[in-house]
Amino acid sequence: MERRELLTALAAAAVLSLAGCAIDRYPIEPNAQPTSTPSATATSPPPPPPPLTPTPTPTPTVPPAPTPTPYATTSTTPVEPPVLQKVPLPGGKIYSLPGKGNLLAWTVDDGTNSAVVAAYAQFARDSGTRLTLFVNGRNRSWTENAPALRPMVESGQIQLGNHTFSHPNLLTLSDTAIVGELQKNDAFIRNLYGVSSVPFYRPPYGYTNARTEAVAASIGYRAPVMWYGSLSDSGLITPQQVVDFATTWFLPQHIVIGHANFAPVTTVYPQLLDIIRERNLRTVTLNDVFLV
Ligand SMILES: [Zn+2]
Repeated sequence: MERRELLTALAAAAVLSLAGCAIDRYPIEPNAQPTSTPSATATSPPPPPPPLTPTPTPTPTVPPAPTPTPYATTSTTPVEPPVLQKVPLPGGKIYSLPGKGNLLAWTVDDGTNSAVVAAYAQFARDSGTRLTLFVNGRNRSWTENAPALRPMVESGQIQLGNHTFSHPNLLTLSDTAIVGELQKNDAFIRNLYGVSSVPFYRPPYGYTNARTEAVAASIGYRAPVMWYGSLSDSGLITPQQVVDFATTWFLPQHIVIGHANFAPVTTVYPQLLDIIRERNLRTVTLNDVFLV
């Protein structure tokens, strides 16, 4: 098969294999211009999530389990947060970081695969990369990896945000159920990590509207965190595709969404760090940037 055909086939297979949180790519189209602002359509209720269907074959080759990478010895990324003039929360959805600068908010959602969460924890520890993790307490990965993550949560290198306990589409829930999902997840995070996720939350699939935002705000969740670029790895894609999406979206003042669901990202951390270094970006958590 010609390389071009192979890539086309892999891309098609990857698209077909997307499921679950795949619609997390919704607010940002791959061809969006870096200087544009979120369009009006991004604030409208999105279409319902596609039905989950069995994953067709072929699927991209699943890489082997994460292996030690060389970035630890070459890291120049500081663990200490940059000294920043924090800004107040803007009110309403947050798509990107305010102002001009060289900051990158790398956010990671879900954690359906405990080995991938473990690899992210190792990566953060070795490289000093600052991350915001949007936790679903339903996934056992957050319990299993708490010993590794907790010191970095306590130091502020890793921030934990609320992604609801069981990852429902908030648009389908009653007000009471929305409160229940957010509070159950925050209790999970507080019990396990000793920190609260308030006021930052990420609506599953990016599905949000005025009602859900008002309900969330009524219990302190004033900051729905969206994104301005995605690694598009809520489903299984190839490692090269992860690198390609990072090349597209690791840009100054962007909030980028990734997922701790599938192994490919864990095999390309050195390449992702290279992109960050070559562009002189500094990773930050949301707490590094916003006054809360
Ligand atoms: Zn999600």
